[in-house]
Amino acid sequence: CSRGLHKPDWLRRRLPVGGNCEQTRAFLARKGLCTVCEEARCPNRWECFSRRTATFMIMGRRCTRNCRFCSVLNGPLGPPDPEEPVRVAGAAREMGLRHVVVTSVTRDDLRDQGAGCFVQTIREIRRQLPQASVEVLLPDFGGSTTCLQQVVDAGPDVLNHNIETVAGLYQRVRPEANYRRSLNVLAEAAAARPDMPVKSGIMLGLGENRTAVVRTLSDLLAAGCSMLTIGQYLQPTPRHLPVEEYFTPDIFEGWRQCALDAGFAAVASGPLVRSSYRAREMFMRVYPS
Ligand code: SF4
Ligand code: SF4
Repeated sequence: CSRGLHKPDWLRRRLPVGGNCEQTRAFLARKGLCTVCEEARCPNRWECFSRRTATFMIMGRRCTRNCRFCSVLNGPLGPPDPEEPVRVAGAAREMGLRHVVVTSVTRDDLRDQGAGCFVQTIREIRRQLPQASVEVLLPDFGGSTTCLQQVVDAGPDVLNHNIETVAGLYQRVRPEANYRRSLNVLAEAAAARPDMPVKSGIMLGLGENRTAVVRTLSDLLAAGCSMLTIGQYLQPTPRHLPVEEYFTPDIFEGWRQCALDAGFAAVASGPLVRSSYRAREMFMRVYPS
């Protein structure tokens, strides 16, 4: 509960009986790999692990930033593991992934902001799993165009960077990030590779109002973003920002329609939607094969 708000029934997930969830978790642990599914306490991890999918989180489990909604641990950090790209690609191959989603913590401590690790990971996935599509969910690289360009040049199939919330809440929700800087990441990626879908995501329930959300959707479209996820913010621990409001599935469906009408090519919107939720299905809607 947040601010005494009762968690609604539609957010209570029934856990599947049996399935591959525990095997997937044990497999990833054996490989020494991190997932954002576990580090961010994603509410879909039972479902995704049971379907033998996961989103890899590279460069360690500690972040140099401390967003007030996020359960990923804050520094100190060591250097990235040079063998990690090979392990990620190998695990994706063994899991039989057809669409590999890779994200990372923010590494403001590294000279290249971690761009090189993304490049190596994309290349290694291409080498070991040439038939798979690759989606990267990037940090803002401190606003460095050079770092972003390196990743764009490595040729991901989808480039994702979450705007997370509306401009007016950045100071409270993401004090070390910047709304304009995040929009620029999307705009620069879209301009550099117009053939590559650019994706973003926003959480609702942090106290944003409707006008600010509409404004954010319009900013994302103007930046060249064509794929969008909209989900309910859930407070990961009592140390994190409280939920200001829970929205019904109908409200999320309304936002989905609104975003499609505004011009997005693909929109996933629902209380439990996260930026990598059923990412392959969303990609296939934009690029059916
Ligand atoms: Fe992991 Fe994404 Fe599924 Fe959540 S929605 S469990 S982060 S793959
Ligand atoms: Fe979490 Fe990303 Fe913020 Fe780091 S930058 S605290 S991983 S949301």
